[in-house]
Amino acid sequence: MVLKEKYDVIIVGAGPAGAGAAKALTGSGLSTLIVERDELPRYKMCSGIVFPSSRKFIEDNFGELPDKIKCSPAIVKGNRICLTHDSPIMDAPFSMFDEGDELEQEGFNTRRADLDYWLCRQSDADIQGNCRFSDVEKKGKQYLVHLIKDGEKISVRTDFLIGADGTMSRVRKKTFPGFDDTVGLLPNYEEIYTGSIDLDPGWLYLFMDERVTEYFATVFHKDDKIVLVTGVRERSAVKDYFQAFRTYLEEKHGLKVKETVASRGIVLTDMSATRNYCLGKEGILLAGEAGGFLRGGEGITSSLISGKAAGDAVVEAVQSGAPAIDCYQTLAREEMDRCNKVHENLAAVLGYNVFMRGTGERAS
Ligand SMILES: Cc1cc2nc3c(=O)[nH]c(=O)nc-3n(C[C@H](O)[C@H](O)[C@H](O)COP(=O)(O)OP(=O)(O)OC[C@H]3O[C@@H](n4cnc5c(N)ncnc54)[C@H](O)[C@@H]3O)c2cc1C
Repeated sequence: MVLKEKYDVIIVGAGPAGAGAAKALTGSGLSTLIVERDELPRYKMCSGIVFPSSRKFIEDNFGELPDKIKCSPAIVKGNRICLTHDSPIMDAPFSMFDEGDELEQEGFNTRRADLDYWLCRQSDADIQGNCRFSDVEKKGKQYLVHLIKDGEKISVRTDFLIGADGTMSRVRKKTFPGFDDTVGLLPNYEEIYTGSIDLDPGWLYLFMDERVTEYFATVFHKDDKIVLVTGVRERSAVKDYFQAFRTYLEEKHGLKVKETVASRGIVLTDMSATRNYCLGKEGILLAGEAGGFLRGGEGITSSLISGKAAGDAVVEAVQSGAPAIDCYQTLAREEMDRCNKVHENLAAVLGYNVFMRGTGERAS
């Protein structure tokens, strides 16, 4: 695709936050471009569970999720939590951490690459993969956005820039140099296996024992694969914790690995857990994890909702002449409060703030 010299809105990142923003802008008449650094559809390390709240948001705003996006088992009944190796596994329905809305009880098990690409394609935005955001400069009332598309440097003008580029957001780094020094990171590591385990595939298992994780460790099923993930505070410790987790599952839950098909790492931030949001400034808005939105471990919903708030804020700013950031601060408030509430509920169930585990801080 040949990019135009100017778009009304450029969205960086083709995840749920980018898709939420693009969908909100659809029909507004504002020309919109989504740029994604990876080839599309892109892989995202994630359990890929569309929780009941995401399910509702998607059905209300995008339509029914196509079956081809779901993997087996398609239905996820809830979380199962094991607080320590000595405690029983408890059923924790999704509704335990979520309050208020009338929601379905069950979630969907999806492939994130297919889910996110489908969500983006429900908008009328141009979508460009292999196109990395590199920098942004203010030029009068507009922005000049520097991109690397298929290895070549190009620059495109825009009135509004939405950073929906995830935890390590470059839009955030370039707009707020130094902000990332205030952010705590939680490295996560996953291995994907063929084999067997005596855990029911219809649940998302969370293991909290401090011998296997400094955050939480999970087991879930994707088609015929078993996925193990553990999260820590110190990157150097992740492989040791992971090995301890795998050994525990082999000894206690009959994990038998036939073949390791993939392994990857990713980081989460503690922005939401510490109420350290970063919404943007002037015509640059940060949505999803780039802005700090995360409902405990559930991020698809908060990214979709904050992305929609960013898209709606741009439309409102164009119509009213108010600064987009002012509109966004108002529209994103409810989702920030909801993220804070989920962290409080999670801390009440666990007895500690899981994102602050091991730091001596217990407050949500
Ligand atoms: C192990 C794990 C399991 C999880 N499981 C679940 C779950 O089951 N359900 C759930 O709801 N949430 C889950 N989450 C959280 C969820 O994955 C995230 O909160 C969600 O993906 C955030 O969406 P986003 O749109 O903000 O960012 P992302 O989904 O990370 O999308 C950001 C996009 O921006 C692109 N990008 C980054 N930098 C640039 C750049 N410079 N230029 C162009 N593009 C760029 C990235 O490639 C990416 O595609 C999980 C997270 C982890 C780590």
